[in-house]
Amino acid sequence: MNERDFQEINALLASPKNIAIIPHRSPDGDAMGSTLGLYHFLKKLGQKPVVIAPNEFPDFLAWLPSSETVKIFEKDKEAVSEILEKADIVFTLDFNALHRTGEMEHTLARLKATFIMIDHHQKPDDYATYTFSNTSYGSTCEMVYDFILGLGKADLLDKTIATCIYCGIMTDSGSFRFPSTTSKTHRIVADLIDLGVENGYIHNSVYDSNTYNSLQLLGRALQNLKIIPNKKTSYTSLSAQELEDFRYVKGDTEGIVNYGLSLKGIVMTAIFIEHKDENIIKISFRSKGDVDVNQFAREHFNGGGHINAAGGKSLTSLQETIHKFEGLISQISI
Ligand code: 5GP
Ligand code: MN
Repeated sequence: MNERDFQEINALLASPKNIAIIPHRSPDGDAMGSTLGLYHFLKKLGQKPVVIAPNEFPDFLAWLPSSETVKIFEKDKEAVSEILEKADIVFTLDFNALHRTGEMEHTLARLKATFIMIDHHQKPDDYATYTFSNTSYGSTCEMVYDFILGLGKADLLDKTIATCIYCGIMTDSGSFRFPSTTSKTHRIVADLIDLGVENGYIHNSVYDSNTYNSLQLLGRALQNLKIIPNKKTSYTSLSAQELEDFRYVKGDTEGIVNYGLSLKGIVMTAIFIEHKDENIIKISFRSKGDVDVNQFAREHFNGGGHINAAGGKSLTSLQETIHKFEGLISQISI
């Protein structure tokens, strides 16, 4: 994005428009924080925005301001498609390719609206008129903050917008510990707190929202943890039966993958989760240093993400998927 892009977007936003704001499927804290932060900003500008998520967002994000206004595409395809058809502008946030919205991809691809992408993943597709893509950012929320500044509208920032943005910076940085956390991140966070953000409340709302069952599920995942010591790698899994045993609901497995990386000396980890309803094994990868799980997920498991955090999927059984993973790990040098 250059100065001219910002001028053109300001011109677009000079009169009220129908605006759809889209996070990726199975949205996380950054996807929901960035879309709702932008939503509140655009409302203040006098626009008519609506956040449309491809599918449900987890309960631990339901405290985000105005999350109750979020439309869910997969719950009500016809009505939501009608809203999309009327959009003049579509913002796509925290993803780099339309297929990251699942089935909604086909509806989005048909729209005549002006697309604006704001995202920090590698290799962005070329579908947007304005592409604000930069992998050096730790979160899309930080990009939304800079986007608002780039438009020259810093004066519109308030506690509500700042709260949404704080949430995504916090979750995507692992509470300010991943290497993507820069001094600039902390300066932005300091500004957000000056705007009135109650940081303790946000940490509580996101991280202290376990149920008894979700903690027991974490316990099972820790019991299932395996180590491949000569490859500094660990992995765990949760079968469909185990999810059922602990009354799994969306969001319950969030963050479990990180425990595999907390083992001393381990630089790569994965979790394999058997989702029977979608007939896929959903995989999350995490790594440290220059071990590139984005490349690994892209090459072998239909996925992608960032160097140290990526995801993918497999259409074979849980056992076969894990077997394939072990085979691949035995061949690479870590
Ligand atoms: P998570 O493991 O938390 O689901 O995702 C980690 C990172 O990888 C996030 O940035 C997420 O957007 C990305 N990611 C997760 N699953 C996929 C996938 O199937 N394809 C791609 N391209 N990226 C993914
Ligand atoms: Mn993100």
